[in-house]
Amino acid sequence: MWTQDFDLHSHSTHSDGIHEVEEVAQKMKDSNVKFWALTDHDTISGWNEAREAANKHDINFIPGVEITCSPGLDADEEELVRMEREGASKSWHLLAYFPSFKDSNEGIEKFESWLKPLQESRLPRMIKMIEQLEKLGMSISLEKVLEKAGGSIGRPHLAEVMVEEGYVETKNEAFELWIGDGMPGHYVQQKPSIEEATKIVHSVGGFVSLAHPLYYGVKPEVLIEYCKSKGVDSIEAFHGGHPDSYRFELWIQAQSAQMSITCGSDFHGSNNGHRPGYAVVPFNGLNDELPSSGN
Ligand SMILES: [Zn+2]
Ligand SMILES: [Zn+2]
Repeated sequence: MWTQDFDLHSHSTHSDGIHEVEEVAQKMKDSNVKFWALTDHDTISGWNEAREAANKHDINFIPGVEITCSPGLDADEEELVRMEREGASKSWHLLAYFPSFKDSNEGIEKFESWLKPLQESRLPRMIKMIEQLEKLGMSISLEKVLEKAGGSIGRPHLAEVMVEEGYVETKNEAFELWIGDGMPGHYVQQKPSIEEATKIVHSVGGFVSLAHPLYYGVKPEVLIEYCKSKGVDSIEAFHGGHPDSYRFELWIQAQSAQMSITCGSDFHGSNNGHRPGYAVVPFNGLNDELPSSGN
């Protein structure tokens, strides 16, 4: 088995991906992905569509979600320099998977109602950011941003409108100058801790993996020890944006801590450089709760 068979990290228009669920499924099929998880930000609203699309394309579907959490540890300056990162992201993302979930059940309803305020807080946060931009001389209409967002509203939608209104040339520039972490138009929302999110996912029969460790600026051994102590099951060592050397570093560290790894492209759309299902590593070490281990 090879991890190229897996893409356990992808986004659709239910959050900030540019493709409808069906198109994402099609692209996974085209890339020969056999096990696919849709992991939209803070919402499970795409699951039913995704399951249908996966059935149609004969792909194994694993219901997932990417939960926005507060940072577990402060970034380490040395590590940021080592990995050539300008800064650490202000939130940590936790991927949650429910491989045994088939239909609606009480557990998932409990999880969904826990998730709901996280998703709903995205709108008040967007309003705050628009207010801050207004003070900075940029007038943005909330309606226009809402139109860009199919489901979960987020900063990429705001950036799109900022480009359209001519305040910036590109979406990247919007992030770099105004709405990126720590920039004057950015607003931080309340988030659950890694520990809290892990507990609730476990309580309804799922498992979790820390998404894209590269973005947090914490040394792999420190990061993995922290995750282990909080009950996190896996580490997304094979993320689309990780250099190979870093993937293997994480993998080795995870192995020595007896933690499994997951792999995902973090696919948002074919225009952002991430290709789905592009990571190669022998299968052993992947999370054994995945349905593949039984097949
Ligand atoms: Zn993420
Ligand atoms: Zn993601």
